[in-house]
Amino acid sequence: MAKEKTGFKPAPADARRFAEALLGWNRDANDRQMPWKGETDPYRIWLSEVILQQTRVEVGRAYYERFLAAFPTVQQLAAAPEQAVFKLWEGLGYYSRCRNLIAAARSIVSDHGGRFPSDYPSILALKGVGPYTAAAIASFAFNLPHAVLDGNVYRVLSRIFAIDTAIDSTEGRKGFATLAQALLPTSEAGTYNQAIMDFGATICKPVPACDACFFNRHCAAFLAGRQTLLPVKGEKAPVRVRWFHYIILQAGNRVAIRQRTSRDIWQSLYEPLLLEAPKTLSKTTLLQHIGAEYGLTIDPSGVLSSTASRTQKLSHQLIHFSFLHALLDEPHPIAGFEWVSTEELTQYPFPRTLQDFLGKNLV
Ligand code: SF4
Repeated sequence: MAKEKTGFKPAPADARRFAEALLGWNRDANDRQMPWKGETDPYRIWLSEVILQQTRVEVGRAYYERFLAAFPTVQQLAAAPEQAVFKLWEGLGYYSRCRNLIAAARSIVSDHGGRFPSDYPSILALKGVGPYTAAAIASFAFNLPHAVLDGNVYRVLSRIFAIDTAIDSTEGRKGFATLAQALLPTSEAGTYNQAIMDFGATICKPVPACDACFFNRHCAAFLAGRQTLLPVKGEKAPVRVRWFHYIILQAGNRVAIRQRTSRDIWQSLYEPLLLEAPKTLSKTTLLQHIGAEYGLTIDPSGVLSSTASRTQKLSHQLIHFSFLHALLDEPHPIAGFEWVSTEELTQYPFPRTLQDFLGKNLV
C-alpha cells in the first residue's frame, strides 16, 4: 500500500489488508488490559467512555470503579440525587459531562423504559453522546458497524495513509470519518474498533514504535520518514485568562456557599463568594467590594489569610485564584447563599482548586 499520498479513499484491497493485519495483531500480540475491555453491557461501556474522555486511563479507572460501585445500573444512576453524582465526579473536571451523564440516564429511564437503547441513532441522541461514544457503544455492545474515531484512530490513519489535512478542520473530520468507516470490517466491528484504538495507544503512539510495528512496510508516513509530523492539527483556540477572587466567609463553623448556576465552567458545583475581575485585586479592594455589594463590614484583623498563588489550566482557560478567608461574628443572610457547617461541606461538590483550599484552610 501507499508509497504515495492516498488521501481519504483507500482501494478496497488496501482496506482489507489493513483490517486483516490489525485483527491478526490483535489476536496474537495485543495484550493491553483495561477493566472495561471486552465489556458488552452498554451502560458500563457508556460510563467508561464518558469518564475517560480527556482523562488518563489510570485516573479514569478509579472513577469508573467508584461509579459502578455506587450506581451499578442506569436506573440507580438516574434515581441518584444530582449532588451525590457530582460529588463522585469531583476532581475529574469537564463538569458538563457529568451533567449530561445524569440527563442521559434519566432519559433512558423516562424515554426507553430503563433499557439502554440498542440502535445507533437512539444512542447518538442521548445527551452528551457524540459520534465517537455512540460508535463505541454500538459496536462493543451490539456489534453494529460504526467506526470509532478518537485521537488514537486519527493518528493511526493519518500516518498509514499520509494524510496532511488537519484533523480538527471540517474537511478533516469528514474525510477521516469516511475513511474510518470504509476500513471497518462490518462483521467484526467491535473487535476491530478496540484493536485500532489499542494499536494507537501502544504502538502508533505520539512517538511511534515503528521498528516494532507489523505494518511498517505499508505505512505511507513511515516510508516517507514523516510519521512524527502527522497528524496535522489546526490553530489552537486562544486561551482565555480569568481572575477569580474567592472570599470565604466563615461564622463559627459555618461557611457561606452557593451553587454555580450560570452557563459557565463548573456549572452545578458549589463555591464561596466570588468576585471575578480582569486583573488581580488587593485585599483592601476585596473588603470594599464586600461592603458595597453585600453590606458586610469586615475588620481586617478578622481576615485569616489572603493568598493569590494558584492557577488552574483548563482546556481553553487559565484561571488565577486568590483566596481571602474572613471571619464574621455571625452568619449574616446573603441572597443566594446558604451557610453550611464545615462537616456538611464534604457532601458538596466543589471545583478541585477550591476543594483543596477549603480542605486545608477552614478552622
Ligand atoms: S509504521 Fe510507525 S507510523 Fe506507521 S503505523 Fe506503524 S507505528 Fe504508526
